[in-house]
Amino acid sequence: MSTPIVRFAPSPTGYLHVGGARTALFNWLYARSQGGKFLLRIEDTDRERSTPPAVEAIFEGLRWLGLDWDGEPLFQSTRLEQHRELVEKLLERGAAYRCFCDPQELSQQQKEMEKTGGRRGYLGTCRDLTSDEIARRMTAGLPYAMRFRTPPGETAFDDAVHGTISVQNAEVDDFILLRRDGTPVYNVAVVADDAHMGVTQVIRGDDHISNTPKQILIYQALGLPVPRFAHVPLILGTDKKRLSKRHGATAVTEYRGMGILPEAMRNFLALLGWNPGDDREIMSLDVLTQAFTLEGINSSGAVFDFAKLEWMNGRYIAMKSENEIWAGMRPFILAWCDKESVLAPEDELGLKLAGLFKERLRRYTEAPDMVDYFLRNPVTYDEKGMKKFWKPETPGQMSRLVGELDKLDEWTVPALEKVFDRVCDEFNLKKADLIHPVRLALTGRTATPGMFEVMEILGRETCLRRIKNKGIH
Ligand code: GLU
Repeated sequence: MSTPIVRFAPSPTGYLHVGGARTALFNWLYARSQGGKFLLRIEDTDRERSTPPAVEAIFEGLRWLGLDWDGEPLFQSTRLEQHRELVEKLLERGAAYRCFCDPQELSQQQKEMEKTGGRRGYLGTCRDLTSDEIARRMTAGLPYAMRFRTPPGETAFDDAVHGTISVQNAEVDDFILLRRDGTPVYNVAVVADDAHMGVTQVIRGDDHISNTPKQILIYQALGLPVPRFAHVPLILGTDKKRLSKRHGATAVTEYRGMGILPEAMRNFLALLGWNPGDDREIMSLDVLTQAFTLEGINSSGAVFDFAKLEWMNGRYIAMKSENEIWAGMRPFILAWCDKESVLAPEDELGLKLAGLFKERLRRYTEAPDMVDYFLRNPVTYDEKGMKKFWKPETPGQMSRLVGELDKLDEWTVPALEKVFDRVCDEFNLKKADLIHPVRLALTGRTATPGMFEVMEILGRETCLRRIKNKGIH
């Protein structure tokens, strides 16, 4: 068997859409799993949209995700001549013809046909013009487009995701290949370039299914091998509507700004519309590569659930070392300190916080809010918590606790635990009855990581000061 060659062929839009990123990933996984090639083609024929920053945004998105491509990217706009040549060849073979019909009249004609509910599509006015007639019109300088001479019959293909798809050629119509201004249409450019690049598998979005029969007809008319197709399902929002800005960020790099790790994004995107056939969810790139098959892609739409992405990101954070986590949290914490005029933490404290919040962080952007009470005194105290846990007898108990803590030799979790046990016994309290008000006094909150761990990091001086400030007698 020949080496599989796949390609990702984005049209630059200014950013790499998550749908595009997922298509790129599936292509990449397929190529890497088969020992094949993953090529990149920038479909930049729309010169207005295809600005250098828009092209760079695609490279940047792919690089962030770690999806390396083989060789140099091919820019579609550099192959305009070859696209025209393909149409020329079709003309020579009788598979294309010149159409002199006026586009405005044609669209008027379409509207009327739609109104009467009759046949739609081109009526074939220029399909069988005599060569004399064509020559006469050309000499007269009449403008013309090129159309494909769609043969009768049906076009079928075996889609790796959807199974057999077939359409009646009558529905395909004698579609335009070259517009009157000489610009080739998308289907021409894609076939010319896919053939040129030797693409063996076309893995792309579902939205291209209706183009595929046209592309197959072109391959067949030219006697070229037809690649295998795999159309991947659309990405939907949680409301099952096509994913759009309304649902949140659609550019992959926006997720980077939101504290999502590339390895989590990759894993999440891989599971959007594909699964390994078992219930594995956290899968490294190597594992994904081994498990990936085109047949494992689902044919129905895949829901982009941000909560799941966050959960997955949290799992990837938890797998990291404290050094790595601190490095991830640090920029967000430093920015917050700057904004709030709070002294930035030293690395020593940062590493301790990384260890403490390892299992809790879902995104590094959450870090400032999670750790703020380590960096400054509580600004407010949770109102509901105060009502519930701060009782008339609490200040007396706090006073006793402060006395004991003051005497403690070693400021460690086990030593702290013992002090709490002693004070609880004395007042006949459950441990939680003492921990709740202490937590409020130290952090202003009702939920934090383990209280003794928090106290150990805060240190004796801060703990005593905060409890006293909250009120003892
Ligand atoms: N440029 C097309 C797009 O961005 C993809 C074409 C293809 O994959 O055949 O939707």
